Amino acid sequence: MKILVTDGMDKSAMAALREKGHEVVEQFYEPDQLGAALREFDAVVVRSKTKVRANHIDEAKGGRLKLIIRGGVGVDNIDVKYAEQNGIAVRNTPKASSQSVAELALGHMFACSRFISAAGSTMRQGKWEKKAYGKGIELQGKTLGIIGFGRIGQHLGVMAKAIGMKVVAFDIFHIPGIEQQLGIDYVEMDALLAQSDFISVHAPAVDGGAIINRETIAKMKDGVTIINTSRGSNIDEDALLEALNAGKVRAAGLDVWASEPTQNEALYSHPMVSCTPHIGAATGEAQKRIGTEIVSIIENF
Ligand code: NAD
Repeated sequence: MKILVTDGMDKSAMAALREKGHEVVEQFYEPDQLGAALREFDAVVVRSKTKVRANHIDEAKGGRLKLIIRGGVGVDNIDVKYAEQNGIAVRNTPKASSQSVAELALGHMFACSRFISAAGSTMRQGKWEKKAYGKGIELQGKTLGIIGFGRIGQHLGVMAKAIGMKVVAFDIFHIPGIEQQLGIDYVEMDALLAQSDFISVHAPAVDGGAIINRETIAKMKDGVTIINTSRGSNIDEDALLEALNAGKVRAAGLDVWASEPTQNEALYSHPMVSCTPHIGAATGEAQKRIGTEIVSIIENF
């Protein structure tokens, strides 16, 4: 197969594809050139930067394209239905980065509880603000509420249990027996909101508006910490900022943003926000696993 890799891919996976006799071209195309380029390839592998939209699929019609692979979990950067209607298969690598994303969520929980991000940046300005950052809290003994208890949510739940947190979870699809299997409590949304000291969102981008909004924040405990490594649209950023400024929400750890790169300076520069630029899956291990999965998707295809 002739395979286009637009946003990078693990080197050993590319070597494996070449060893199997595929031709692999690594090249990013601007949106106005992507469609024509896709005509020349049997498969395209994208991460987040490349968006494969209906117009690209139209422009690629009559060419070789049969397969679009998203190296990652969500396929929101691909017009999946339109691709499939046009006989182009779409695949992703849903399991490869779960542990990496869960570890980043846990990292944000630690960062929020001990001001790691803000304290570090003031040290780089030559300050020694020991007193200002002297009101940390421990995670042990606190309740973590996980909204969306799929792959990443479950990885996080297991780690949070190991550091002595109580874990409650809500998911629109309840997996029977998951409580006993992982030692967590399955609760309804309102109960989760009412009892959690930390709330971490791990649902896909949901239709029907943000999961964390004024109404749901009002139902939370005072002083709650909110973590989002799922999709930016799951949080109403205005409502979160208001609640941070009012002290209702103690802190927030955000990897994903309503629009990316985010322009929401009031939020990302807030002293009680620990922020990262959508790097949940950006570990060597996850990228290696993603590469291995892509090789096997292409082989099976
Ligand atoms: P998953 O499909 O395994 O789990 C998601 C769970 O959310 C499912 O069990 C589903 O039933 C549940 N759900 C759907 N709508 C819900 C709702 N309204 N309320 C509660 N639960 C709901 O997915 P995953 O692999 O665990 O990924 C979770 C999220 O993480 C996705 O949004 C994904 O795009 C995101 N993600 C982010 C990064 C990153 O770089 N930050 C990397 C990978 C994945």
